[in-house]
Amino acid sequence: MAYQKHWEQNEKLNKTEQWKLERDGLTILEDIPEYAKNGFSSIPKEEWDKFKWAGLYLQRPKEDGYFMMRVNVPSGILTYDQAVELAAICKEYGRDVYDITTRQAIQFHWLKIEQIPDIFERLEKVGLSSAGACGDITRNIVGNPLTGIDPDELFDTREIVKEVYDFFQLNEDFSNLPRKYKLSISSNINNASNAEINCASFVPATKVIDGKKVAGFHLKVGGGLSARPFLAETLDVFIEPHQVKDVTIAVTTIFRDFGYREKRHLARLKFLVADWGPEKFKEKLLEYVELPDGGEDAVTGWNAGYFYGVKPQKQEGLNYVGLNVPVGRLSSDEVLELARISKKYGNGEMRNCNSQNLIIPNIPDEHVDALLAEKIFDRISTSPLSFIGYSVSCTGIEYCNLALVETKERMRRIANELDRELSLDVPVRMHMVGCPNSCGQRQIADIGLQGIKMRTKDKKMIEAFEIYVGGTLQDGGTLNEKLKGKVEAEQLSDVVKGLLIHFKNTKEPGEAFFDY
Ligand code: SF4
Repeated sequence: MAYQKHWEQNEKLNKTEQWKLERDGLTILEDIPEYAKNGFSSIPKEEWDKFKWAGLYLQRPKEDGYFMMRVNVPSGILTYDQAVELAAICKEYGRDVYDITTRQAIQFHWLKIEQIPDIFERLEKVGLSSAGACGDITRNIVGNPLTGIDPDELFDTREIVKEVYDFFQLNEDFSNLPRKYKLSISSNINNASNAEINCASFVPATKVIDGKKVAGFHLKVGGGLSARPFLAETLDVFIEPHQVKDVTIAVTTIFRDFGYREKRHLARLKFLVADWGPEKFKEKLLEYVELPDGGEDAVTGWNAGYFYGVKPQKQEGLNYVGLNVPVGRLSSDEVLELARISKKYGNGEMRNCNSQNLIIPNIPDEHVDALLAEKIFDRISTSPLSFIGYSVSCTGIEYCNLALVETKERMRRIANELDRELSLDVPVRMHMVGCPNSCGQRQIADIGLQGIKMRTKDKKMIEAFEIYVGGTLQDGGTLNEKLKGKVEAEQLSDVVKGLLIHFKNTKEPGEAFFDY
């Protein structure tokens, strides 16, 4: 091993830490071909959790042996060939369910162990991988989905994201972290990558160095949602683009070597940062990499990952088109159709947003009208109604073992109903999650809806929700706050509608939910 696992002697290590010491999580990749030959029943129960390092979770109920697979899509950028292959895998094996996640990745469901080697091979052929998409490891790297074409970014971050992603992919020096580890890298001035909710994030900044203004990054560390959410803190350092990889290695090394490994619910980097504070973290970072003090922050706002409509790119004569994918779910035929359109009118690329939506880039001015006339945009709209267009949902009880309630279809139903009955002059972002883990990022929503179980007066357990209001990442971020009480799932739609009618009737024209 290239590094010292100094925690080996700790007698209080949690169970996951104990097996990770015996065998690295990534070694599950070596076992999968054999399990695929012998079927699901050949996989010992104690191995199930290890599949996460291959980007695989057993879906609900685990005993049925169906897997969910998460495929990494760094910065959310897919080529035509990649999108077509993903659609084909989804159709052949995934019962036609293609989900875009809030971290710009793709998720499949219903996969059997016998199919996994073929899927791995097909992903590899188009330069994709699910390795490290789950588990205590560097996850998919979130970035600006417009990078390279964005008039609102300081510089193109595609190569930087690729360099960092390639370094950590299958790297056994960093595959035994205390817990999941989320990075974001973006130079978009509207915080397109939701910096504050990542473990470590690079955000745009400038600094005068030797009399010259240099564009680079500031670094935020210690963000993360789940049951105990934290917003990342800015360290007083300036990072030039060529230093990003070294800084990422340094932060990840600190997490690996100083992060907590006793209680899993206290193991994320955010707890170490909360204990140390930004000054001590900076001091430690400077032991690994030399950096000057911070410069001028270049972030001016927050767009929450929404890019609807046709907008000009930084390349003259080219446009990108932002589309709404209702609650992030597509069929394989829809993916194929969007890929066909992106190739016919653009360069074949499609880009996933952390709002679970899509962008088709590189459309010449003269092709915009023909593209917009394509039939599919009746459903995958470029100008969606204001509730379905701003609704996000996690996977929920349909597939997820941790879920307490059904989410995706419920969120879709409620948003569609609100769109039929109510119109507002500002969008209201609603995020639904099926448990406190908050994959659907409920804490940063205008209205966050978190599923719980509730006991009725006659002692029956039913699905219910807590309602949270006022989340944003504007100006460094504010997490939403819980309203008193719980709402039975059956009544959720009416209660949310009542809340929104009150907002509509009492707000100033143009006033946003957060400012209300
Ligand atoms: Fe599952 Fe909870 Fe994540 Fe939803 S938030 S996908 S229910 S773990």
